[in-house]
Amino acid sequence: MAETGGKKNAKAKGPGVLELSREQIADRLRREMAKAGVTVIKFIKMMESFRGVIPDEAKRMSAALKAMDHAAGIEKDDILASAEQQRSTLKKQQKLFTHALDDKRDEMSSAAKRSKELKARIEELNNEVRELTDEYEQAMSEATNGEDMIDKAEKRMAEAARMLDDEVVAFKDKLENYSKKGAAPAPSDDKMETLVSSLDFDVTSADEGGNGGQEDSVEKKPCPRCGGELAWYELYEKWGCYSCGYQEE
Ligand SMILES: [Zn+2]
Repeated sequence: MAETGGKKNAKAKGPGVLELSREQIADRLRREMAKAGVTVIKFIKMMESFRGVIPDEAKRMSAALKAMDHAAGIEKDDILASAEQQRSTLKKQQKLFTHALDDKRDEMSSAAKRSKELKARIEELNNEVRELTDEYEQAMSEATNGEDMIDKAEKRMAEAARMLDDEVVAFKDKLENYSKKGAAPAPSDDKMETLVSSLDFDVTSADEGGNGGQEDSVEKKPCPRCGGELAWYELYEKWGCYSCGYQEE
């Protein structure tokens, strides 16, 4: 639309001046030069009007000069000055074009700078993604190992508890059978011995303590939460409360 629109659309967003064809550039420059050299244009028109009557160009030129001088007091020097005006306009237009080229160069260098910045940012983000991926994999393997550890600990605790429970049950069986029958089969099988030896220190320390009393020698600590009595948890090696679940840190 800039092509047909003429002067008013010159500033509209058409193809940029750097994208014009040689013919388009020449056409626009011709219009600039017509504005700059009105006298030249008038003279050429005058000459052309004589073309049918005066075929010889030199004679036609001379006739046109006379006519211009006669009609408007325009002389040869005025026409030459007008032509010189056209040349300087052409030079100015070339200079302006150079500015347009420089602007384009600036634009390109800022695009190059921006592309470098974007590349650096992309690398930064890629590094971050790599770090997050490492961290994620580490967390994943820790979680998996943790689950594995929990499973194994749970199993070990269950096995240990069952083993001890079996021992206590075996002990109870023996004791009950003993009192029912009145006989005295010595409680001497393996399970019994394990139980006895595992309780060895508790039994002896309780026995050695007070005379007949068990609680006198045992350290007493009140539960800070419920006021009940704290017990020493051997498994956790810390004090805890069986009533309310409190555990010392
Ligand atoms: Zn408590």
